[in-house]
Amino acid sequence: MAATAPLPPHLTLLYRGPLASCDYDCPYCPFAKRRDSPETLRADRAALERFGDWVEARADEDPGTRVSVLFTPWGEGLVRTWYRRALARLSALEHVERVAIQTNLSGRVEWLAGCDLSSVALWTTYHPGQVTRERFLAKALRLVELGVRFSVGVVGEPGHLEAARRMRADLPEEVYLWVNAAEGRTYTDAEAADWQALDPHFHYSRHPHASRGLPCRTGDSVLSVDGDGNVRRCHFVDTPMGNLYDGSFRRALGRRGCPRTDCDCHIGYVHLESLDLYDVFRGGVVERVPAVRPRALPLLP
Ligand code: SF4
Ligand code: SF4
Repeated sequence: MAATAPLPPHLTLLYRGPLASCDYDCPYCPFAKRRDSPETLRADRAALERFGDWVEARADEDPGTRVSVLFTPWGEGLVRTWYRRALARLSALEHVERVAIQTNLSGRVEWLAGCDLSSVALWTTYHPGQVTRERFLAKALRLVELGVRFSVGVVGEPGHLEAARRMRADLPEEVYLWVNAAEGRTYTDAEAADWQALDPHFHYSRHPHASRGLPCRTGDSVLSVDGDGNVRRCHFVDTPMGNLYDGSFRRALGRRGCPRTDCDCHIGYVHLESLDLYDVFRGGVVERVPAVRPRALPLLP
């Protein structure tokens, strides 16, 4: 199908294919130690390659559009060759501003030297209990040596607090450590202050953001794409917008308010226009790297 509507000057794509397996065993995760069948892995690989082809083709078919991509797999992608290849491939494209992936950083990192370091980035999460501090830290420090852009995150479970403090102290100051409020957990002010001391942006994560009717960039300049190319505005709204590969999604592009009561995940609410997070994370929205490394607050007594 011919293009029926121009794409915006900058399009951000959140891609999640069929992969749903992980080498870690986090107690708070449904994908812990899940395995994918060979068929699913083959389908995931083919879907990712097709998605990469589409992104590459924007240079000719939508020359006015720059693209950023965040891979948000259910599970761990970087232990699979095809995710590493996709990052290297997309990073080399002139019209790709940023390509990043959420990862537990369990795999090797040397392959990143083959990427364009001005556009590749990692959203890493440190899972104390699954990996030793030394092992995670060594990988993070190697990323620093290689010159890779990345953030480090921790889920704000009480049992993670000491490990998170230690990691914050061990990481170079320029590496941002973010903290996600644990799902379903409410924090007393004293508990929140502990996490806020580590991540000065923790207050954005502490409570879900009331979002119904508020303007959100998803559906307009930000889209969620699955392995079949089905497009939705974001990972949290199921209403289909069409398909990436037949161009049918273009008709549905446009600004509209959020249909949900609230938005509690950073990869969603970062795009809410009522928040200032495009300023806070300017130049690093998809990999969660703030424009200015925030100064941690002094620890409360
Ligand atoms: S590393 Fe991530 S995907 Fe894997 S089990 Fe832990 S939370 Fe789930
Ligand atoms: S606010 Fe969140 S749930 Fe609502 S449309 Fe935006 S990303 Fe989706």
